[in-house]
Amino acid sequence: MSRYPTDWIEAGACLNADPDLFFPVATGEMGSRQAAQAQRICERCQVRRECLEYAMANSQVHGIWGGTTPEDRIRLRRQRSDQRRRGRRGRERVSAA
Ligand code: SF4
Repeated sequence: MSRYPTDWIEAGACLNADPDLFFPVATGEMGSRQAAQAQRICERCQVRRECLEYAMANSQVHGIWGGTTPEDRIRLRRQRSDQRRRGRRGRERVSAA
């Protein structure tokens, strides 16, 4: 079950695109080419942010979401986690002072 709204899906620029581009089954250069094609579609998508946040909230580990690859989302998850940790430490220092 989704933990994030999905009302944006119908507005996606990929609605009629080939799903294989967004979930490439090919590996190597062919898979990279398909993913790059998908990312070009995402660049002009008006619900890119919603799509990315959906993928992040639901831990989507496969495919192109919001213009990001699975590796991009791993990096983003780490960045957000680091930011939350730094924010918590900052608040702890302020309250201890
Ligand atoms: S951001 Fe990309 S994957 Fe997400 S809805 Fe838009 S076109 Fe589709």
